[in-house]
Amino acid sequence: MEIKIHNTLVGSKQVFKPIDPEKVTIYVCGPTVYNRIHIGNARPAVIFDTFVRLLRQIYPKVVYARNITDVDDKINNAARELGVDISVVAEKYALAYQEDMAALHNFEPDIQPRATEHIDEMINIIQALIDRGHAYVSDHHVLFNVPSMADYGKLSKRNIDDMIAGARVEVASYKKDPMDFVLWKPSTDDLPGWDSPWGRGRPGWHIECSAMIQKHLGETIDIHGGGADLVFPHHENELAQGTCCHDHPVEYVRYWMHNGMLNIGGEKMSKSLGNFITVAELLEQYQGEVLRFALLSAQYRSLLNFTDDLLNQSKAALDRFYTVLRELKYVEALPVSEFSSLPVVKALADDMNTPEALAAMHQLASELFKATDPAEKAKLKGQFVTSGQLLGLFNHDPEQWFKQGNADSLSEALIDAKIQERADAKKARDFGKADEIRNWLLERGVEIQDTREGTRWQRI
Ligand SMILES: [Zn+2]
Repeated sequence: MEIKIHNTLVGSKQVFKPIDPEKVTIYVCGPTVYNRIHIGNARPAVIFDTFVRLLRQIYPKVVYARNITDVDDKINNAARELGVDISVVAEKYALAYQEDMAALHNFEPDIQPRATEHIDEMINIIQALIDRGHAYVSDHHVLFNVPSMADYGKLSKRNIDDMIAGARVEVASYKKDPMDFVLWKPSTDDLPGWDSPWGRGRPGWHIECSAMIQKHLGETIDIHGGGADLVFPHHENELAQGTCCHDHPVEYVRYWMHNGMLNIGGEKMSKSLGNFITVAELLEQYQGEVLRFALLSAQYRSLLNFTDDLLNQSKAALDRFYTVLRELKYVEALPVSEFSSLPVVKALADDMNTPEALAAMHQLASELFKATDPAEKAKLKGQFVTSGQLLGLFNHDPEQWFKQGNADSLSEALIDAKIQERADAKKARDFGKADEIRNWLLERGVEIQDTREGTRWQRI
């Protein structure tokens, strides 16, 4: 089956043709680990996780790498403030990142390379760039010489004159050209550093991705993903490094995919506006699956406006889906016979049209509510479950889904005790007390239903 991808490099949708259909390679820029990630950082992680799930259904092998930037001036500053080594800060937030990723039901990538474990590889690429006349040493720095690459700017569609005009007024004295960017910079004794042919120092940010891609995935990869804010300068510079470090220019990436930004309540998220919201904070109020649903609700390239309404709608949609699954608990799902013909698959294969995929899920849910024929129910349930899992949904037992609360909710143990108390009251024919307990729970957001299989409860 055919997948279409909007390729930033060509500016339009293209049919995806991997270099080697037996092994598809994809790399996504990961976090700089110096604080808890905000919800905007979670968007590419969920988008590309979903995309990789689709790729895995179509290709026999997919290698998905997402890096961890564990050396950066932001980490240095955080470590200095705390008076600890950078590894302490990096370790703490790398772990926090994994927790957030798991809570959002993202699979772990196949490879999660760390910058500090690839210093030798970075030094090798920098040396290759110097040897080929694309980089130079100046005042203990190594810089990539932008004019040495004729088509620099082709990814972000900027021409050099515009870039220079837009460049900051003050240009470092060690640069030959104002656009030249740092590959290696010197470290003072109080900063992390590694020995190199150019003295003790540390890498620039862009070089780590080129080095890790080359080491783990090869000279040319199929897909490179990341946020639209990374197109320039990060990806433009990665592209320059990865193309120019070989004897002959090599195609670095075949398809570039960039996700749009995320606004909070109509405004750009920023610390100064006070609307900076972390995944961890949101998880105190919402299940990870609700956050995931909300992140998938817009097509990945568009701006996503993240609001309380969106979260509540996402929760309501998932409640509807889980209601279907709970009602059909005893229906055996029939395996899907034609994966590529599923509406959710078709929508995802068309440049990850997740709004259409979620609409198709609603359609399936409606059909399931209406279906009466057992064979039809089994077939539809199979499609519904397969499609939902492809989107990274349905990670919960349907009964359990309705029992999950937030930080302010009654505990399950207390609810169970109250239900037992009510059962005892009914047995003793004290129906007044039984009703009192039912109402007490209802006032606290817990609804109970007496079914043939006993008393069932859910949070409302
Ligand atoms: Zn990167």
